[in-house]
Amino acid sequence: MSTTESGWSTADYVRLEEKYGARIYAPLDIVIERASGSWVHDVEGRKYLDCLSGYSAMNFGHSHPKLLRAAHEQLEKVTLTSRAFRNAELPGFLAELCTTFGYEMALPMNTGAEAVETAIKAARKWGYEVKGVAADQAEIIVCSNNFHGRTIAVVGMSSEEAYKRNFGPFAPGFRMVPFGDVEALQQAITPNTVGFLFEPIQGEGGVIVPPDGYLQQVEQVCRQNKILLIADEIQVGLGRTGYRLAVEHEGVRPDLVILGKSLGGGIVPLSAVLADRNVLGLFNPGDHGSTFSGNPLAAAVGRAVLELLNEDDLYTGVKQSGAVLMEELRNMQAPLIRDIRGRGLMIGIELSESARPYCEELASEGVLCKETHDTVLRITPPLTVEREQLSWLTERVHKVLTM
Ligand SMILES: *Cc1c(COP(=O)(O)O)cnc(C)c1O
Repeated sequence: MSTTESGWSTADYVRLEEKYGARIYAPLDIVIERASGSWVHDVEGRKYLDCLSGYSAMNFGHSHPKLLRAAHEQLEKVTLTSRAFRNAELPGFLAELCTTFGYEMALPMNTGAEAVETAIKAARKWGYEVKGVAADQAEIIVCSNNFHGRTIAVVGMSSEEAYKRNFGPFAPGFRMVPFGDVEALQQAITPNTVGFLFEPIQGEGGVIVPPDGYLQQVEQVCRQNKILLIADEIQVGLGRTGYRLAVEHEGVRPDLVILGKSLGGGIVPLSAVLADRNVLGLFNPGDHGSTFSGNPLAAAVGRAVLELLNEDDLYTGVKQSGAVLMEELRNMQAPLIRDIRGRGLMIGIELSESARPYCEELASEGVLCKETHDTVLRITPPLTVEREQLSWLTERVHKVLTM
């Protein structure tokens, strides 16, 4: 097949994929062949500014030389040992991960959803073994409009009908409260509550920023009620909002932090749960696992990602570019715009109608982004995006929204 592919048009690739692939996405019909930095190139030689960044899995852009080097070097050594044996990359990765974020222990997994499931297991285990909740009674409070992934337990705690339809029955043990509402959280707490799982900013939910003070207040409520505060930082963590973790905006320290997406540098699936020994120390051999967890290739790439995350000027850069972009966007006059919100380089433009046709128009203008929650244009370029590219982006967005 590879010999026939040269000379294929976009339509040829689309046809083949539609014929053989289960249709779980509705992608824009841009067939990407290569990418570098903030730019991706399609099979017909067009180039686009990537303003999705793999749903924030590519915070450092495409083909970052330091990440590629780490991956190449490790590819030549060893890629998978399974955790039946130890490997020489994992200990350093775990230590650097804990030091970077200030936690005592880390549990590596692969995808985000798996890390969320892992955090749920950890919180329940803590509930039974430390808090003293009766067997099988543990409850975890989640937020409406959440997105935590696509496994059965995780979609079961979603409020999104499309994520759940015809996939039940679901796991019990979850309660839901409105996002941003501290009182509702307080009222939902019972003696069986073991954790509160939330996104510091809801990404898939439409870039929903909670009211000021919310993060600190939920931290306080959790402390007072002996409940674990569990932050899903998979999308908003790792520099996206101008902080290592989005909760740092309010100086909050969750009991459990869930990382994914950019942790693997857009090269490998790599996720992790971070916590102190009082929680993650409860796991014993045989309690949990994954064939690929902690594999040396992912650990090597993860270490290189952590090095990039430990460059302090990253955060001032993101805050500055985010502020510039936000201001430029807010200065646009376009009657379609209902709201512009976000933090750092995570920006949502809410329109008064479906955002999809505008994403398609933007693509023909050389900008790739994707609608979320139907009416929201999410703008999340790589953190390494240049200022001139942001002005160019604003011009394109303005053009498309006022056409
Ligand atoms: C993407 C995402 C997940 C799921 O991660 P996968 O790697 O797709 O399983 C979970 N939570 C949040 C907030 C996400 O954005």
